[in-house]
Amino acid sequence: MKKITIAIDGFSSTGKSTLAKQLAQKLQYVYVDSGAMYRAVALYTLQHKLIQDKSLNTAALINELSSIKVTFQYSESLKASEIYLNGVNVNTEIRSMEVSNTVSRVATVPEVRQQLVNLQQQMGADKGIVMDGRDIGTVVFPDAELKLFMTASANTRAQRRYDELIGSGTDVTFEAVLENITSRDHLDSTREDSPLFKATDAIEIDNSNLSLEQQFEKVLALVESKL
Ligand code: C5P
Repeated sequence: MKKITIAIDGFSSTGKSTLAKQLAQKLQYVYVDSGAMYRAVALYTLQHKLIQDKSLNTAALINELSSIKVTFQYSESLKASEIYLNGVNVNTEIRSMEVSNTVSRVATVPEVRQQLVNLQQQMGADKGIVMDGRDIGTVVFPDAELKLFMTASANTRAQRRYDELIGSGTDVTFEAVLENITSRDHLDSTREDSPLFKATDAIEIDNSNLSLEQQFEKVLALVESKL
């Protein structure tokens, strides 16, 4: 059967990765979480003290980019890919609030974006891929057959993310999560290089009032129309 490229973009915590995983599983496609790649680079900057008091040492980061290797490896037990930073599994660490509070700053650096976009394009060269992020339909795969742009109110998104974090044992307040989401949205949509916006040919899905099942059915019908 013909294989297509599915690009899913949108604001933080709109459920992009949940939908992308569901689609990849149903279609037997590769799923790539591009946000995890930016998070891995942000983790590197924290580990190497290239960011302190919210101030990023951009020159040092650019200098060290060639020694930052971000890879994915499939885990049989999890039945999912996990992300590695220079050979070390950082799948859990990249979800910390510290990384969440740093990543959008790191993602403004054009050299970082170029390195990660190259990798993403290599991963999608054979199609049969679902990738979620902020610039997938606009920059990474401008020719993707199906582009989705996900939205939901900031409060709905913060509540979902808060529930997730609390469920995984993270000690956090709702206000801190809401603040992180709104400040990332702002940085992501106003940065100079590859800002987040809806591609003209993307289909907007507002899932504030959709159940996961309703959303999946709706999107599956869109996929089928492209196959
Ligand atoms: O998807 P997630 O929320 O984990 O992404 C974390 C951050 O990585 C985003 O807030 C954004 O700053 C950056 N990002 C990006 N381009 C992408 C994916 C993520 O700039 N394609």
